[in-house]
Amino acid sequence: MKVNPTYNTKETLLALYNKPLLELVFEAATIHRQFHNPREVQMSSLLSIKTGGCSEDCGYCPQAARYSTDVEAHKLMTVDSVIEQAKNAKANGSSRLCMGAAWREVRDNKDFDNVIEMVQAVNNLEMEVCCTLGMMNEDQAKRLKNAGLFAYNHNLDTSKEFYGDVISTREYEERLETIDNARKAGITVCSGGIIGMGEAVEDRIGLLMSYMEMETPPNSIPINALVAVEGTPLEDQKPIEQWEMIRMVAVTRIAFPESVVRLSAGRTKMNMEAQALCFMAGAGSIFAGDKLLTTPNPDFNEDKEMFEILGLIPKAAFAEGEQPVSNPDPIVDARKKKEAERAEQLLAAKQAGFEPRKVTTVEN
Ligand code: SF4
Repeated sequence: MKVNPTYNTKETLLALYNKPLLELVFEAATIHRQFHNPREVQMSSLLSIKTGGCSEDCGYCPQAARYSTDVEAHKLMTVDSVIEQAKNAKANGSSRLCMGAAWREVRDNKDFDNVIEMVQAVNNLEMEVCCTLGMMNEDQAKRLKNAGLFAYNHNLDTSKEFYGDVISTREYEERLETIDNARKAGITVCSGGIIGMGEAVEDRIGLLMSYMEMETPPNSIPINALVAVEGTPLEDQKPIEQWEMIRMVAVTRIAFPESVVRLSAGRTKMNMEAQALCFMAGAGSIFAGDKLLTTPNPDFNEDKEMFEILGLIPKAAFAEGEQPVSNPDPIVDARKKKEAERAEQLLAAKQAGFEPRKVTTVEN
C-alpha cells in the first residue's frame, strides 16, 4: 500500500481538503481510475455477533454498558446462526462479512474459540472475513490468521489530539499496537474514522496523518459519519453536511490511492446523488443490509436499485488479495475432542443404568 507523496503533510492535506469541491472530486476521480475499476463497488455486510454490554466509554457508541440506550445486549451468536446470516448476505450480493463483537479486547476463552470457528466457516463460503473484536495481541492475531481471517478492523476514529475528547478508557497507542499485531500476523488492515463528532477539520486531517505515518497505510479505510444515538454523550451532535462526507472520501482517496475507501456509517442521511459523488470520488465499498451493528442502514433492495441506476457492479471477493487458507485450530480441536469424550462417557454411564445425580434445593 502506497501513500501519495504530493500530499503527505498536514499542510498539503489541509489545502487539498479545502479545494473547490468539484475540483477535489475530479482529482480524486482521476486517481481512483488509475488504481481501481471505477464501476466496481464492494458490498459488505456488518454483523453484530455480540451486542452491547461493553466496558469501554467510546462517546459515539450505543453499545457501551455505561450509557442508557435502546440497544439490547446479546451474548455471542452461535456459529450456526452466523453461517446462516453469512449465506443470506452472500445471496444478497455481499462478498465480505465483517463480524463485530462489543468487547474491549479479545480474551482467550470459549467465545474466542467460537469466533475462530466462525472465521473458518465463513471463509469456506468464499467470502472475505473481517473481524472487529477490540484490542488483540500477536498470538490472538496469529490464531485468526490461521483460521482464514482476511481483514481486521480497528478504527483510530479521529486524530490523536481529539481522541481524548471521545474515549478515555484506552489509549491511541493501544489502538496502533493492535493494528500492528494484525499486520504482523499477515492480516490485511481495515482502519478509519468517524466525522461529525465535534472535531475540527484539522482533526480529520490528523487522522489521515496517523495513517500517513505508518510504515504501510491500511488496506482499507472506512469513512463513517456519526450516527448520533440517544443516550450517548454525542447524542446532540448535529448531522454533518453531505458535502463534508464527499470531501473526506475524496481526500482519503487521493492520499491513499491504493487503499479501498469504504463509505460506511451514515448513509441513511445521504441521498443517492451525494452517494454517487462519493463513488465518483473513490469510495469502493458500502455496507449493505438494514443494520450496521446496531444503527440503521439502507436495505439490500434500496442498494440494488442504486447500483442499477448508477451502473455500478458489486465487486467480487478477494479482488484485493488471495483468499486465506483456513487451517485447523489446535485449541478448538482439543476442546471438541474433550467434549466428544465427555458425551461418550455420559452415554456409556446412562446405558449402564447410572442416572445423573439430581440436585434438589429447598426454597424458604
Ligand atoms: S466502539 Fe467498541 S469498544 Fe467502544 S464502546 Fe462500542 S463496542 Fe465498546
